[in-house]
Amino acid sequence: MEFNKVIRGAKREVNDEQTVYAILDAGFLCHISFQHEGQTMMIPTAYGRKEDCIYIHGSNKNFMFGQLLNGQTACIAVTHLDGLVLAKSLFHTSVNYRSVILFGKATLVSDENERIEGMQLITENIIEGRWNEVGLGTAAQIEATMVLKIKIEKASAKIRNEGPAGDESILDNIWSGHIPLKLKAESPIQDKKFGTNLPVTTSVNNFMKKYGD
Ligand SMILES: Cc1cc2nc3c(=O)[nH]c(=O)nc-3n(C[C@H](O)[C@H](O)[C@H](O)COP(=O)(O)OP(=O)(O)OC[C@H]3O[C@@H](n4cnc5c(N)ncnc54)[C@H](O)[C@@H]3O)c2cc1C
Repeated sequence: MEFNKVIRGAKREVNDEQTVYAILDAGFLCHISFQHEGQTMMIPTAYGRKEDCIYIHGSNKNFMFGQLLNGQTACIAVTHLDGLVLAKSLFHTSVNYRSVILFGKATLVSDENERIEGMQLITENIIEGRWNEVGLGTAAQIEATMVLKIKIEKASAKIRNEGPAGDESILDNIWSGHIPLKLKAESPIQDKKFGTNLPVTTSVNNFMKKYGD
């Protein structure tokens, strides 16, 4: 993997493979930017990672997938918002975050084992353990699902993780500091089609332990 040089705010650049992977593995939502007839487009989608490859899946009829497979290089962003940074002036007001921007070309995963593995990586990235709790779908549904692999050619990681900076000379009495933010899960709501008293599965339980109150 090559690294893109961060130019502005370069002190927040953390360009090493392990940091890039840690930021990718901390989420499952990416935004993929691609070109179609000279128009830049962007679509949010779920992903999973194995080594230096990102896996995405969708319908055979997925428009973006069709574009990604024409040989172009896609640009993918993953961002975690970790906090609001409220400085003594709006100029120094900022956010804490971890983000990765990466570039790579998509290929169609046609090997059946890798296709299923790609789907598993994505599912497990969304909610660990769910893969073993429910079936994948009918043969026709699995057949209608396309899996693409994007090998990371270039990447960069940027992290901001501190309170206000640069406002040291403003000596007023206005509160300044930062507000940490995190993803919070509310109580799970059972699908009422199937009654209301089924126990939650282990994956849901574990998810709630991680992201609930
Ligand atoms: C958190 C999240 C995870 C998702 N995960 C997946 C996934 O794993 N697999 C998958 O196939 N899809 C996923 N989607 C849906 C995905 O964003 C696309 O809507 C879908 O894949 C269809 O893509 P397409 O290129 O065929 O869209 P088309 O319907 O062909 O796009 C036509 C136009 O519709 C608009 N459009 C398309 N998608 C969106 C959108 N999400 N929001 C607003 N406008 C839109 C855009 O203007 C686009 O140019 C996810 C969406 C979100 C928000």
